[in-house]
Amino acid sequence: MNLKQLSFDEFDGFLRELGWPKYRAQQLRDWIYKKHVSRFDAMTNLSKSDRALLETRAMIGEPELVRQQRSTDGTQKFLFRLSDGQEIESVLIPDEDRNTLCISTQVGCTLDCTFCLTGTMGLLRNLKAHEIVDQVLWVLRHLESRDPLTNVVLMGMGEPLANYREVTEALKRLTHPKMVGLTPRRITLSTSGLVPQIKRLGESGLNVNLAVSLNATTNAVRDRLMPAVNKLYPLETLLRACRDYPLPPRRRIFFEYVLLKGVNDSEADAHRLLRLLKGLRCKVNLIPFNDYPGAPFGCPDDETVLRFQKILIEGHLTAFIRKSRGRDILAACGQLRTETPSAPALINSLS
Ligand code: SF4
Repeated sequence: MNLKQLSFDEFDGFLRELGWPKYRAQQLRDWIYKKHVSRFDAMTNLSKSDRALLETRAMIGEPELVRQQRSTDGTQKFLFRLSDGQEIESVLIPDEDRNTLCISTQVGCTLDCTFCLTGTMGLLRNLKAHEIVDQVLWVLRHLESRDPLTNVVLMGMGEPLANYREVTEALKRLTHPKMVGLTPRRITLSTSGLVPQIKRLGESGLNVNLAVSLNATTNAVRDRLMPAVNKLYPLETLLRACRDYPLPPRRRIFFEYVLLKGVNDSEADAHRLLRLLKGLRCKVNLIPFNDYPGAPFGCPDDETVLRFQKILIEGHLTAFIRKSRGRDILAACGQLRTETPSAPALINSLS
């Protein structure tokens, strides 16, 4: 029994079966989720006999680190091997006032966004809740800098809302004060626009931030960039769901917009984007496309990017240009890829 596979209630239930009192379950949970310990013999407030009993009945699994790369800008990319041999990547992005970890939710992706390498690889499998949480726990345990992990973004491999059950269970464990205990407003889930699941997430009470990967201002262009999802939920349907989304006070939806040279970066696009998002409590993150070998798109020049942003700002929309991080180790937006047959990911940095 890998204790990390257990939900909060299952954890209590397992220890009840061992005949342990409730407070003991929390002691054990603290070792795993707060102190990031993975060996029973390090749990000094448990008696020797209790530790011995646990050794015979349970274990605390950990993903295996296969490779760790560090970019010249401080970004770190981790390649993890899971218990069945599949591999995923996570990226730690340090900034002046924050440390953001981007985590994966699937091995591969069913969607086929043409600016993301994942689209060519298909879905190998969904991650389990504990495999999603484990990426955070591993980094918390091994974080070199004294600065704590401030933000977690679900923008790595895969479409988080296509793995709704495991992702929401992972979010519960990440935000539960007696488990990992991160504040929901420091967690951002990014979706390509799965409308029914956006509605469910809004009703879930999880209160994490929502980011929507928009990338186009017409259905014709979005059909070209994100064909699978836009055929199911075209722009009007997606934006209606965003308008209906029950945002907590003082929160906004993030719209991600990857700028592709000559495809979606014109002044007309910027004006259309203004009209589409009019009245929505939102911020726009403009992400100049990150080239990768053989990429079918190019990156617009700085002048085009700045002009696009200026139009949005003059139209009273909050719009940031997100600089690329970790390009030299292929850790930037759209560049993640494991070497075994799995998937790359879309990585954006958020404010
Ligand atoms: S951008 Fe996201 S949803 Fe689209 S193919 Fe890549 S991982 Fe999947």
